Amino acid sequence: MIDANNTGRGNGTRPKRVLILASKLGYQTRGFAEAAERLGVEVRFGTDRCHKMDDPWGDAALALHFENPREAAKEIARAFSGGVAGEKAVDAVLALGDRPTVTASYAAEALGIAGNPPTAAEICRSKLRQREALRTAGVRVPDFFSFAVSDRLADVVARVKFPCVVKPLSLSASQGVIRADNADELAEAVRRIRLLMESPEIQVLRELERERLLVETYIPGREVAVEGLIAGGRLRVLAIFDKPDPLEGPYFEETIYVTPSRLPEEMQEAIEECAGNAIRALGLTTGPVHAEFRVNESGPWVLEIAPRPIGGLCSRALRFGVDRISLEELLLRDALGMPGGDAERENAASGVMMIPVPRSGIFDGVEGIEAAESVPGVTEIQITARLYDYVAAWPEGSSYLGFIFARADSAEEVEKALRQAHARLQFRLSPRLAVEHPATGKIG
Ligand code: ADP
Ligand code: CA
Repeated sequence: MIDANNTGRGNGTRPKRVLILASKLGYQTRGFAEAAERLGVEVRFGTDRCHKMDDPWGDAALALHFENPREAAKEIARAFSGGVAGEKAVDAVLALGDRPTVTASYAAEALGIAGNPPTAAEICRSKLRQREALRTAGVRVPDFFSFAVSDRLADVVARVKFPCVVKPLSLSASQGVIRADNADELAEAVRRIRLLMESPEIQVLRELERERLLVETYIPGREVAVEGLIAGGRLRVLAIFDKPDPLEGPYFEETIYVTPSRLPEEMQEAIEECAGNAIRALGLTTGPVHAEFRVNESGPWVLEIAPRPIGGLCSRALRFGVDRISLEELLLRDALGMPGGDAERENAASGVMMIPVPRSGIFDGVEGIEAAESVPGVTEIQITARLYDYVAAWPEGSSYLGFIFARADSAEEVEKALRQAHARLQFRLSPRLAVEHPATGKIG
């Protein structure tokens, strides 16, 4: 239960304060703001969204550059150094999404509060360094190597075991991740990823090592995601999600997540053990973790470990304790040492479908929302694509049309509800017309 002496006050002096770092201020940060308000906790945001405007959201967010984590952490330390003697101006820092994770760990270090060691966060930020660290520690990962996009492709092909997966070193949401079954497909994949990495949308992120790619053996099998919390280097699993759609490529946009997992108990235990080993190998010690695995007859394989909570609206599939608190509230309670941070997930089966983009185009609207909402078990449908915006399909794309949520007694029913609801939605995506730019006369 949430009791009355639980107002989020630090020693009765001032409300506890949490700093949340996020590239986008949107539904996920709003979820934290709402949870913080419920808890009487003060929340400050740090973001690297457009710095040109003066606080257009009125949220006094700190403007930071996450691609330069040490500098960003110094900015944070400067901003919060005016506190009362002996009192920490910030009690916890949380990163949302992959980009701010390294900044968060340097900031925690600078502020003298709990966080992951910066080296651990840095290793996780590079898919290559993460693979190297896990392989060295004997954690099962696909065979891999990296190459420069300027390398002779014939040399790369000579080293590849097909089928393989090619990916950039630091993007997320499966953007730019492509399966190739032979040399021709590999050449095409590299060409496509190269174009993507040169696009203005990616250039502006100033990601490191844009000219290197990772190639690894394709691991067949079922895929699962683990949502967890680390304390003192020990992992507590909050949920294991099955991904019941076959993710066989060539592109890997996510669709359905359902928990509890329907994998055999022993396999779930093996996944938990593998996740724990991976976290130790990477040196992660503190806070939320989102991890992905493939499982087959050899057992679990680590696809990826990220020191941050699940992204997008997906956290809405999770509720904890008798009060059914949100993941955001659970994470705040845990980070601030407030009671209730140890609550367990509810018993109901629950799931979410990230609605994939069937083909790139201008989002012209959607039909059938009411019909989809009336499917038994469906609890919520959120269309997040903005009307008349261009939405890109994978592998160039990275954001979904929306999210469907369902709850039921069993995982089977949840999956069925999500599929039925999705089948009732008709998205209109129209081709982008080539229009002449009025200033340049160029067709774009
Ligand atoms: P991101 O960080 O962009 O999500 P991942 O490395 O997690 O990139 O890859 C995205 C998806 O691509 C995975 O969830 C999985 O479905 C697929 N994938 C990536 N690497 C492999 C691999 N080696 N074998 C099989 N599938 C893979
Ligand atoms: Ca992933």
